[in-house]
Amino acid sequence: SEASFEGVDDVAMAAPKPAPRRNDSAALAKEIAEKLTYAIGKDPATARRHDWLEATTLAVRDRIVDHWLASNARNNASGAKRVCYLSMEFLIGRLLRDAINNLGLSEAIRDALSAYDVEIDLIELLEPDAALGNGGLGRLAACFMESMASTGVPGFGYGIRYVHGFFRQEVVDGQQVELPETWLEHGNPWEFERRERAFEIGFGGKVTMIEEAGKPPRQVWRPAERILAVAYDTPIVGWRGARVNTLRLWSARALDPILLDAFNSGDHIGALLEANRAQSITQVLYPADSHLAGQELRLRQEFFFSSASLQDIIRHHLKRHGDLTTLPDKVAIQLNDTHPAVSVAEMMRLLIDVHAMGWDQAWDITKKVFSYTNHTLLPEALETWPVNLFERLLPRQMQIIYAINAQIIREATQSGLDGGKIAAISLIDEGSGRRVRMGQLAFVGSHAINGVSALHTELMKKTVFHNLHELYPERIQNKTNGVTPRRWIMECNPDLTALVTEAIGPGFKDDITKIKGLDALATDAGFRDKFMAVKLRNKQRLAKTIEERLAISVDPHAMFDVQVKRIHEYKRQFLNIIEAVALYDQIRSHPEIAWQPRVKIFAGKAAPSYANAKQIIHLANDVARVINADPSVQNLLKVVFLPNYNVSLAEQIMPAADLSEQISTAGLEASGTGNMKFAMNGALTIGTLDGANVEMLEHIGEDNIFIFGLTAEQVAARRANGQGGREIIENSPILKGALDSISHGVFSEPGRYSNLIDNLYGNDWWMIAADFEAYWQTQRRLDTVWQDPTAWGTKAVHNTARMAWFSSDRSIREYAKDIWSAPTGA
Ligand code: PLP
Repeated sequence: SEASFEGVDDVAMAAPKPAPRRNDSAALAKEIAEKLTYAIGKDPATARRHDWLEATTLAVRDRIVDHWLASNARNNASGAKRVCYLSMEFLIGRLLRDAINNLGLSEAIRDALSAYDVEIDLIELLEPDAALGNGGLGRLAACFMESMASTGVPGFGYGIRYVHGFFRQEVVDGQQVELPETWLEHGNPWEFERRERAFEIGFGGKVTMIEEAGKPPRQVWRPAERILAVAYDTPIVGWRGARVNTLRLWSARALDPILLDAFNSGDHIGALLEANRAQSITQVLYPADSHLAGQELRLRQEFFFSSASLQDIIRHHLKRHGDLTTLPDKVAIQLNDTHPAVSVAEMMRLLIDVHAMGWDQAWDITKKVFSYTNHTLLPEALETWPVNLFERLLPRQMQIIYAINAQIIREATQSGLDGGKIAAISLIDEGSGRRVRMGQLAFVGSHAINGVSALHTELMKKTVFHNLHELYPERIQNKTNGVTPRRWIMECNPDLTALVTEAIGPGFKDDITKIKGLDALATDAGFRDKFMAVKLRNKQRLAKTIEERLAISVDPHAMFDVQVKRIHEYKRQFLNIIEAVALYDQIRSHPEIAWQPRVKIFAGKAAPSYANAKQIIHLANDVARVINADPSVQNLLKVVFLPNYNVSLAEQIMPAADLSEQISTAGLEASGTGNMKFAMNGALTIGTLDGANVEMLEHIGEDNIFIFGLTAEQVAARRANGQGGREIIENSPILKGALDSISHGVFSEPGRYSNLIDNLYGNDWWMIAADFEAYWQTQRRLDTVWQDPTAWGTKAVHNTARMAWFSSDRSIREYAKDIWSAPTGA
């Protein structure tokens, strides 16, 4: 009753809880208006679209909070094992549609807003992408967070609250320009600041030995610099709101916001320096993907979020269970790549120095708690840190790493490994100026190490971790990546979702494996026509975006041939561009052939310091400009480079693709997840036997996927033989012709791309010359299939029907069972 709110005692006794919220459109309309009025201070007559977005978000958020508190209470009551997913990146994108969809509120919100003449589809677009990641690794973490909530795993994401996420890309005169990204500019209604949840993080200083009477001597780290990590929590809602998990991101803050002494003595700038220095740790996401960014600030970021997360995990455990010996029964900590690998040493420090545990017990607990996911075998991406930098910044952790190393080397010696192999497993690389190898540290501190596709896991055993695998043969296992079908089918492709529901019922929404029911409809002409009509509508929408952004008009009836992902030499956008140039030449010289109309679509960002990748973007834009302006190929070939690839653009592109380009040099793409998103939405794949493509082939069937090129083994052999590309190029008139057009200035002044082209004549490291002929031929086979809409449509339906295994729900259930020993609800 109202009265019970009056006196403190009454409140305590009655413990009133808010009434459960109603989810009909009338109730939502009323609440949205209340938020607009009392949380934002606007009335419907003067509200801007941004205000409606915020009001709607807050109304939806209230419903999530109800589920969130209930999930947390359930976790605490059951004491079930929790999974902490440590990741330097979470590439989330927008959250509103995800939340509305998972809560089943799509229709009700649409109706509620229409009462105010507001269109949900328009205001949704104003939400900024949370772009706290670079690409596949960060997007995987985001899919995993959603799938943990959807499959009932008590999951906690831990990461960094970057003020500036992944940079905004503009293309000026055909070249990439990087601009700061400002997602927090209008505040972030999804996050809750937890000022009370703050931990001190140290850097530098000294380690001293403390000897107290009657106690064993112990090491104490006295950092020279101390800053605060403050938690910001975002609720992550699972399918049907069954569980809401927490993504906890750390923000850096100075212990003292201002040095008053300095300020009072007139040093107004100096008084703020310390605060700025502290805050700089969480200001910017490093934009390097599959490449080591070896700056000191990066190591600070890694330690900052690792230490804060572990302190939080330990605090929680002690509060609930009182005793750290049970930590491995109650917590699993997954290291997403080596970025949080310093956690292994920091956990040892916390257990030994702070919680007075003995070495052996601490080491045993550490290994049981941690597991590590490897994401790349590329040497340029494997993290190592100079020992002297490590020692200066983290002196105690460095001591611990030496001690771990000594123990591992003892175990290796005892097991009979020879000297060369022991040097290879050492945590310290003595070869290139003494560096700490983070992969080795993560490996030895974990009970399970996983690769992200079957092929990648096998290569891991043979290459980077060959010797550690020999020493600990039971540790490496495979967990093929997946993507969440809620975001990557239901939300991004509502027309397909409606069609599938009409055809086989809604059961696939709860259990994606049921989508297999579509397989039988692949040969049903009526269904196929509807399926391809959905595709056409999605292509029309993308064509409109292309027209609006680039003033290029493309025909939605042409084949949309798409390669969107980070720009990287191993991903071989260059191969695709060369094929476009070759096609351009061939169309002009052979007008008698029935060429099939194509639109080649590219998008992706290059790391700012990656010169060759930036050249590839420049070339794509140069080629696009010339081809699109040439009337002789007008209806047959267009080339488009869409700037600023991000999750929201991906959500528009994936449903609109006919052909998905997954053409990395075999053995170099760990898994890929873009490949999965395309195929689920009915695109056919042209790809190499790389990463998860190999398993997609098994699931989709060889009639429905177009595989070409050298295998990983053949690539390794060719590289070992040092076979360059010259001979191949000189024997291939089509390839040679295309390279000559690029060199001789058809698309730019001559010589602009001589570096890229010389590389092909030289060692052809990425096997572009070596794979060109097979790629070209496979593209022509695809032309033939495209000419036959029945054949193409049948394959497209099979793709959607057979991709369920690549749901991240499946990945998460495997992790929960084989690595985390954690419960799943389903
Ligand atoms: N970037 C974004 C925005 C994505 O959505 C994805 C995956 O779909 C990726 C990068 C990774 O793409 P790929 O697996 O093709 O490298």
